[in-house]
Amino acid sequence: MPAAALAPEVLAKYEPVIGLEVHVQLLTATKAFCGCANHFGSAPNTNICPVCLGLPGALPVLNAKAVEFATLASLAINCQVRERSIFARKNYFYPDLPKGYQISQYDKPIAEHGFIDVPTADGTMKRIGVTRLHMEEDAGKSLHDGFPDSATRTYLDLNRCGTPLVEIVSEPDIRTPDEAFEYLTRLKEILLYTAVSDCNMEEGSLRCDANVSVRLKGAEKSGPRSKSRTSTASALSVWRSNTRSNARSR
Ligand SMILES: [Zn+2]
Repeated sequence: MPAAALAPEVLAKYEPVIGLEVHVQLLTATKAFCGCANHFGSAPNTNICPVCLGLPGALPVLNAKAVEFATLASLAINCQVRERSIFARKNYFYPDLPKGYQISQYDKPIAEHGFIDVPTADGTMKRIGVTRLHMEEDAGKSLHDGFPDSATRTYLDLNRCGTPLVEIVSEPDIRTPDEAFEYLTRLKEILLYTAVSDCNMEEGSLRCDANVSVRLKGAEKSGPRSKSRTSTASALSVWRSNTRSNARSR
């Protein structure tokens, strides 16, 4: 439901508290922990090896270029790059993650404590905090349609397994859909300028999850959080009121 459809007395009483988690694929030639090509659009299951499939005995070797790009992105969003950061296994099973864990960063991410300044409706600038930027690997892709037997089967393309990602987590500083739009627009501009990603939303290079809660205006504590997993493109079209064009979203 667009914000404009809410009753004015509701809008006057409550405010949303929004934090964004943005996943960005890095433009490296090879994957995060193996020598497979990091390339979108190859024939299914051709850019894979024992490492990115997590077969027994395979040992990941970190791609230096991915670290360089993550560092560049961190500095461009005013983060402090840690002297020491650590990778961790995030264990979960999903059909497109057959090895049963994702290599990610947990309590020692590569960078923390950044910010992005965004323009607001009254012409001033507002600082949105960036909690952390951490490195991780992407999972494969489940294909639920497009095949003659898609009604009964799901196909798996594991080419994306091991694609280097950075996840950029904002502080819950965003209060309006327009601020969320401006934050994502600025972040995308910065990532494109630093050339660490092509930010191609159609190919999944830039994806956004929103953590949204609602609280009484001016209250210190937020209500229960609701996580909305969506593409940046659809998030923007939902969030933006119809009165403003999407022309600034490149
Ligand atoms: Zn591989």
